[in-house]
Amino acid sequence: MHRFFVPPASIHSGQVVFSAEAAHQISSVLRLRPGQALLVLDNLGTEYTVELVEAGQKAAAGRIIEQKPAQGEPQCRLALYLCLAQREKFEWMLQKCTETGASTFVPVISSRSLVQDLADTNKKSARWEKIIQEAAEQSGRGRIPVLKPALSLAQAIYQSQGKRIILWEQERATSLRQALAGLSPETPTELSLLVGPEGGFSGEEVQMAIQADWQPVSLGRRILRMETAAVVATALVLYELEQ
Ligand code: SAH
Repeated sequence: MHRFFVPPASIHSGQVVFSAEAAHQISSVLRLRPGQALLVLDNLGTEYTVELVEAGQKAAAGRIIEQKPAQGEPQCRLALYLCLAQREKFEWMLQKCTETGASTFVPVISSRSLVQDLADTNKKSARWEKIIQEAAEQSGRGRIPVLKPALSLAQAIYQSQGKRIILWEQERATSLRQALAGLSPETPTELSLLVGPEGGFSGEEVQMAIQADWQPVSLGRRILRMETAAVVATALVLYELEQ
């Protein structure tokens, strides 16, 4: 079934009124007709099964048949701090890590990041938010992951709170499972993961993170590309915490 996020205000009295843009998508792109059903998400954690009563080019509306907590939303709020990379690679990480279950994305500029311009990066946020929303709809998330403004590595390291993990291929002592051992799957958990650029973190950057209470963690003996590391780490964290 097709899924749409709508602003919560467009849901009331058992009805959903779609925006003109969504109406176009529903009638012209998906060719849905009155009587057909779709899933509507309010981005607050509830999903609604809706039967279309109107499906025009400019106006579409539906009647709520059922409502329940959104099924695809993880309990653990995972913030991914991703060092900036070449465009396609960065967008691929946003898309795949949304599907896998990350809740927040923070683009980070580290000394070896391929992209170094903060202002230029923030100009891409509308495009990135669209990629994230589409991936959230496709994968049945209950909330659209939040894209934060880009930060320098030092800002990222000192601003974040809660349990913090820096993925470091030279770490030998601590595995991801060990780092997550104290966290309980029952209570909603806040967790930050920092993924380095293709060239890796410098030694000073890792030391700075450790001093700010980030725990260096290994994903195993093989060195993964950053986009692989981002998806694998997201999946493993949620697998460990969502059993
Ligand atoms: N250029 C480095 C590898 C960087 S990989 C080298 O060749 O040694 C890019 C990022 O992915 C790293 O900064 C790290 O955050 C993450 N990463 C890749 N493999 C990892 C592993 N085995 N354990 C932990 N993190 C890893």
